[in-house]
Amino acid sequence: MIGTARTTGTTGTTGAAGATGAEDTAGTGAVGGAGDAGAWTNWARTVTYSAREFHRPRTREELAALVAGSARVRVLGSGHSFNRIADPGPDGVLVSTAGLPPETEVDTAARTVRVSGGVRYAELARAVHAHGLALPNLASLPHISVAGSVATGTHGSGVGNGPLASAVREVELIVADGTTVTVGRDDPRFDGAVTSLGALGAVTALTLALEPAYQVEQRVYTGLPLDGLDFPAVAAAGYSVSLFTDWREPGFRQVWVKRRTDRPAVDFPWAAPAAGPLHPVPGMPAVNCTEQLGVPGPWHERLPHFRAEFMPSSGEEIQSEYLLPRSAALDALHAVDGIRETVAGVLQVCEVRTVAADPQWLSPAHGRDSVALHFTWVKDAAAVLPVVRRLEEVLDVFDPRPHWGKVCAMPSAVLRRRYARLADFHALARSLDPAGVFTNDFLRDLFGS
Ligand SMILES: Cc1cc2nc3c(=O)[nH]c(=O)nc-3n(C[C@H](O)[C@H](O)[C@H](O)COP(=O)(O)OP(=O)(O)OC[C@H]3O[C@@H](n4cnc5c(N)ncnc54)[C@H](O)[C@@H]3O)c2cc1C
Repeated sequence: MIGTARTTGTTGTTGAAGATGAEDTAGTGAVGGAGDAGAWTNWARTVTYSAREFHRPRTREELAALVAGSARVRVLGSGHSFNRIADPGPDGVLVSTAGLPPETEVDTAARTVRVSGGVRYAELARAVHAHGLALPNLASLPHISVAGSVATGTHGSGVGNGPLASAVREVELIVADGTTVTVGRDDPRFDGAVTSLGALGAVTALTLALEPAYQVEQRVYTGLPLDGLDFPAVAAAGYSVSLFTDWREPGFRQVWVKRRTDRPAVDFPWAAPAAGPLHPVPGMPAVNCTEQLGVPGPWHERLPHFRAEFMPSSGEEIQSEYLLPRSAALDALHAVDGIRETVAGVLQVCEVRTVAADPQWLSPAHGRDSVALHFTWVKDAAAVLPVVRRLEEVLDVFDPRPHWGKVCAMPSAVLRRRYARLADFHALARSLDPAGVFTNDFLRDLFGS
C-alpha cells in the first residue's frame, strides 16, 4: 500500500532541524547540509529524509560524479513536498540542487528560457520578465524549484492552463551512469520525461516556452454559495480562478479571480467584491499576499497568491490534493460538503482550482480537463490521516488522482489503475536506469515492484 509509505513519513522533526542550525533561513527549502545526517527535512519539517549521506554539489560535474558513484540517489529541489517522494532511504544519497549555479538563459527570438536544475520560479520569473517575456502560469507560491515542480505535476489554475510542466520543451538529465541525456518534444520519450517523479535522473536543465509579458489584475470576491453554483462559469470568469473554503459552513468564503488585461473582462455576478485585501486562510494578515483590489501588475506578481519576497507561511501545515475530471466538479464538491464537519475539524483551508488536460504520462491531469481539490491541513498527522482516508472514500467514485508531492493514503494498486501509461513510464525508467539508482520506496510501491 503506497499510502503507508507516504503517510507515515509525516512525523514531527522540528527538533532535529533546529538542533543542527538550519541553513535555510528564508524557510523556503529543505534544511541541513552535507554531512548533517538526520538533519535534512522537507520545508514543512514534516518529513525527515533518511539518507546515508547528504550532498550539495556546486557544479554539474560534481553532481555527475556523485550520481555515477552512488548505488542509490534521490535529488531534492526546494523540499516543498509533503511525503517521502524525495527520500532515497537509509542506504541512499540525497543530493540538493540548491548549490548549483542558478542559470537562466533567455532566447528572445525563440521565446524560450533554459533554466538550470535548482532555480526557483521566483528567480526564473524575474529573469524572463526582464526580457519582456512571461510564463503561461505559476503555482500559488513562487518559492518552489522549477525542476521539482514539473517533476510532481505542480499546477496553478485556469480552465485553459495545463500544469506548469506543459511549458517545458526540453529536459536535460544526468542519468545513472553519469552521462547526460537530452529529451526534446520530438522524442517519443518526452511525455514520460517531464513529470518524472525524479525517477529518470537528475534534471540539470529545462527549456521552457515563453510568451510576451502580460499584466494581470486580481480581485477577491466573498461569500459564494455552493447551492446553485455554476462551476464552469465561475471557473472561466478569469485567466486563473481559485475558490477557497474552510468547510465550516457550506459554500466558499472567497473566490480569487486573476484576469489578464489583454483579454476581455468577464463579469462576476455571483459574489460580492472584497472591501480590502484578504489572505485565503481566515484570520491571517494579507501582507504576504499578492496585490488585490484590481490593481494591474506584471503576471509574476499576480498569478501566485503569495509574494516572492516573503515567506508564505510558517510551514505549520500538511497538504493533500486530488485531481478529478472537471465534469465531476459540482458532484465532488457536494460529496465533500457531505463530510464537511469531519474535514473542517483538521482543515486550515481548501482551494478549488482547474487544470487543463496534459499529455504527460504521469500528470495527475493526464488526458482530462481537471478540477483540483486542495486541502491545507493542520500540522497534526495523527489527526489528519483518518480524515484523509475518509475524504478519499467519498471522492473515490470520481476517480481522483492525488498530487505526487502531497499526502495521500490511496493504495498503490488503485493508483496504478488511474495511470494508463504507468507501465510505459516504468519501462522508460528501466531503460535509463536499469539498476534502479533513482528508485526509492515511494516508487517501488507505486510500480508494485
Ligand atoms: C506552501 C506550498 C504551496 C504549494 N503550492 C502548490 C500549488 O500551488 N500547486 C501545486 O500543484 N503544488 C503546490 N505545492 C506542492 C509543490 O509544488 C510540490 O511539492 C513540488 O514538487 C515542489 O517542488 P520542490 O522543488 O520543492 O520539490 P521537492 O519536494 O524537492 O521534490 C519533489 C520531487 O521532485 C524531484 N526533483 C526535484 N528536483 C529534481 C531535479 N533537479 N532532478 C530530478 N528530480 C528532482 C524529487 O526527487 C522529488 O521526487 C505547494 C507546496 C507548498 C509547501
